[in-house]
Amino acid sequence: MSPGDTASAKIKAKCSKIGLTKVVNKITFTCSKSGKNLIWSKSKITSTTTTSVQATLEKFSFKYNLDSSLPSDFVAEFQTVMKNLGELTPIESGSISSNKSSMDVYSWKSTTGNPFQSQIGDITGSSISGNQNKRFMVLEIPALEFDQKLMHRYSVIPHEYFHVYQLSLAKKDLGAGKWIIEGGAATFESLYIQQYYGYNYFKDAQTNVGLAAINNPQIFETYGSEEINYGSSVFLVLALVKELQKLNYSEQQAFRMVYLDFWIEFAKQSDWKIAFDKIFPVKLADFYQSLLGYTNNINSVLPSESLRLQTIFSS
Ligand SMILES: [Zn+2]
Repeated sequence: MSPGDTASAKIKAKCSKIGLTKVVNKITFTCSKSGKNLIWSKSKITSTTTTSVQATLEKFSFKYNLDSSLPSDFVAEFQTVMKNLGELTPIESGSISSNKSSMDVYSWKSTTGNPFQSQIGDITGSSISGNQNKRFMVLEIPALEFDQKLMHRYSVIPHEYFHVYQLSLAKKDLGAGKWIIEGGAATFESLYIQQYYGYNYFKDAQTNVGLAAINNPQIFETYGSEEINYGSSVFLVLALVKELQKLNYSEQQAFRMVYLDFWIEFAKQSDWKIAFDKIFPVKLADFYQSLLGYTNNINSVLPSESLRLQTIFSS
């Protein structure tokens, strides 16, 4: 029986109450009056059943659990940063963990000890933790960063947020290479700081590029590889952007491919390397080869200081 046959058969079927709806073979039927009878009649074509499920979810939101140990100026800035990020790179409802439209953020100052143990267990540092059923953001801010007014107390927010964004596009665990996950979050973090605070965080915190970044980049595919502040992963992402620019992509387009298109493709692929070769016009092996033409110096791959994140995500 073809789907059309089923649909026309259902049209004649009686129903019990005006306004009831049901979906058969992606066609929505509404119970309506025909003469003295109530029958199912075709009302509209719905593209997929998933669209109608997503439409019922609320807009995605973060729930802030901010401990009183945090300085009030940090709390205010945190809220501003999260608002900016929500507008720049919105998270799709239900994309992080099934049927969830919110994520908890737990933040506290390191000297106070984790005040949220009953909710999140014995976690320290900053991360996106949990699993596909429930994920949450942890931001334990070292007291030293407040005392010395270090930019990292703010940059950690876009960094962790960007992992949520990556998850929302991938719609599964980020089983990709470390350098594209962390290099993505860490370059995004620096672009955010550069744009909103007029401060070049690449040159401050991400200058430690290992020699292996140019002659043995494969090692940065796994989390076991050692690097300081993801300096080598940042270098690899920025070098990829430079290689794409050599192929006549604009800087904005190149970042968009790394930040967005790659993850959307990864959602459809079992292996990140397949997604890489599909999205980028340079094969992964050829990209690694091209790195031999670079020096392991962050200054050789810095993005332009006038780059605005909005132009990456709206292009
Ligand atoms: Zn990270």
